[in-house]
Amino acid sequence: MKSGFVDLPDDVEENPLPPSRRSSILIVDDQATVLQSLYQLFKVSYEVYVATNGAQALSMVKMNPPDLILLDMVMPGMSGMEVCTQLKGDPETQNIPIIFLTASSSVDDEALGLDAGAADFISKPFNPRIVLVRVNTQLRLKTKSDLLRRIARTDALTGLSNRRHFNSTLLKEWRRCARSALPLSLVFIDVDFFKRFNDIYGHPMGDYCLSSVATAMKSRIWRPADLLARYGGEEFVCLLPETPLEGAIHKAQELEASVRSLAIPHEGSSVAPVVTISLGAAAAQPAQGDEPGHLIDAADRMLYEAKAGGRGQVRFVQVDGDAPASAGSASPD
Ligand code: GH3
Ligand code: MG
Ligand code: MG
Repeated sequence: MKSGFVDLPDDVEENPLPPSRRSSILIVDDQATVLQSLYQLFKVSYEVYVATNGAQALSMVKMNPPDLILLDMVMPGMSGMEVCTQLKGDPETQNIPIIFLTASSSVDDEALGLDAGAADFISKPFNPRIVLVRVNTQLRLKTKSDLLRRIARTDALTGLSNRRHFNSTLLKEWRRCARSALPLSLVFIDVDFFKRFNDIYGHPMGDYCLSSVATAMKSRIWRPADLLARYGGEEFVCLLPETPLEGAIHKAQELEASVRSLAIPHEGSSVAPVVTISLGAAAAQPAQGDEPGHLIDAADRMLYEAKAGGRGQVRFVQVDGDAPASAGSASPD
């Protein structure tokens, strides 16, 4: 018998200090009695999912990542250790805390489990109160580290992703599109005559303008993989994975119109009496082993052309390896 679960005291449903949001927990164990007891223990305060083997656990985590995993170390087929190693090796799942459950009280096993990246280690038979407290502690730590990660990738003024997050996402999406032979587009965006805007209306109004421009553009971004980021100062960038050039041009025109229709007065602009943006779009077919540097350069070059061509407009280019680029422009009516 691998486990002897301690009988639940009457008051365990009074979960001690549960985190504020209803968190989700995945319990993985090949023993139905263990699953049942843990399910009863957590169902009051948490969204609880169960898996009876390692493979099932991995596919459930991929489909719907939980906030925490209680993982039996010894299971037939894939062991808990293997499950843990796989999850910790995948950037998508590495931040999910794992608590090992085991009948073994060996220090070596505990050290191995913690070394594999587990957050904690609980020996069976376990006391339900102790399990609850340890789970709550890990969930609270996860809430804090999730918040820190979110802050680290967010631009404080606009609430958009920051440049660092854009850079890492671009690399990830570039490789994904290369693997699945899908195109990827970028749109660089720059507010027109923004120095004059600050000079005329003041820096605080400039900040407000940037934040409004960001919100207007963000409202045009729907697809989960699309990413709008503040690249720096009054420059933004829009990443459009799985999107060919025509799609990028269409999106760029939408962004242009969304900012123009804010109708923020700009007396210093020679483009229009309102704040406008210039946009450079570029599309490429990512290749395995290739890097997105030339796509960034191309989109940046198109932005420069949009500026030189009169601002308040879109310039675009198709970049395909060594093939000659085909470029064009699109202006609002
Ligand atoms: P162009 O149409 O050629 O883009 O001209 P521009 O004036 O927009 O470009 P330039 O690069 O000369 O000036 C950018 C200005 O953006 C200068 C800088 O003070 C302002 N700026 C950059 N970041 C911020 C910010 O966070 N808040 C405010 N208020 N202004 C900013
Ligand atoms: Mg600029
Ligand atoms: Mg500018």
